[in-house]
Amino acid sequence: MNEPILRLDNLHTAFHTKAGEVQAVRGVSFDVAQGEIVGVVGESGCGKSVTAASILRVLPENAWHSEGKILFLGEDLLALSQSRMRAVRGRQISMIFQDPMTSLSPLMRIGRQIEEAILQSGDGVTRAQARERALEMLRRVHIPDPESRYNCYPHELSGGMRQRVMIAIALSCRPRLVIADEPTTALDVTIQKQILLLLKEMCREMNLSVLFITHDLGVVAELCDRVVVLYGGLVMEEGGVIEVFEEPAHPYTMGLLASVPRLTQEKAKRLTPIPGSPPDLLSPPAGCPFAARCRYARRICLKAMPEAQRLSPTHYGKCFLLDPGAPRDANPFADRRER
Ligand code: SF4
Repeated sequence: MNEPILRLDNLHTAFHTKAGEVQAVRGVSFDVAQGEIVGVVGESGCGKSVTAASILRVLPENAWHSEGKILFLGEDLLALSQSRMRAVRGRQISMIFQDPMTSLSPLMRIGRQIEEAILQSGDGVTRAQARERALEMLRRVHIPDPESRYNCYPHELSGGMRQRVMIAIALSCRPRLVIADEPTTALDVTIQKQILLLLKEMCREMNLSVLFITHDLGVVAELCDRVVVLYGGLVMEEGGVIEVFEEPAHPYTMGLLASVPRLTQEKAKRLTPIPGSPPDLLSPPAGCPFAARCRYARRICLKAMPEAQRLSPTHYGKCFLLDPGAPRDANPFADRRER
């Protein structure tokens, strides 16, 4: 793997609330390499969007980081001044949000919005050069007739077109890393696929790294090189998309995969939802956060958190059943350890 351009090292993010301290992210570590597309997946409340907002330092005032580092190109983003961080945002790290209607200004023509993003990147380009680059970006995101669409307002475009404009804005400053938070959730399936293919094509062309936040495993399979599975503010499993999808190591990942419909699935076979609900992060459980919903849970799971076990050079899982010390007869995953 290439050198990581982003490294999260034991990141803890919490929120002060009237009810107490919500420990949304509780020691998350993973890398994103140059040119790599990494999916962060999990149910609502697992910490994926808080992780993304922590990287960009766009959390509300009641949030704080008690521990950890976010190393971007070797520099800890959590230690940067606000003005230095503003220079990193947009220029080196950009973001694509879920709903372009709330991210685009309804009062500004779309071409002008791309132009402004280019001018604010501090590249020293003139207004005329910014306009040329904005038009070029509209062409690259396959907006038909970009010269006339340049003057459209967001409400004059379809949802898919608006998301293409968001991609054009995010990539117009040639960032090193793009964070995409559920960018296709609001779109219908065919448009979703087009947008994912476009994002992949552009990121490969520009050798960009992408952190793709989603609850949709189908999207991860379509787009990503690696996947990080979050649950209860912790990384439960991490690995290459093929190895995690073909041989999931963690019962939570297995549950997620079993709840996704597949074209090859027999008609009569019902989808299996994961019973129960995620843990309350106001008072997170002492042991494995998945224990209350896990059919393999044992007494130890309620008391202690398992260490990460390496299953291949790129595949890790955190479950007592993957522990080489676990008794083999009680271990349905004994053969999942590194071979
Ligand atoms: Fe289930 Fe225990 Fe593994 Fe957690 S550690 S996933 S509760 S078996």
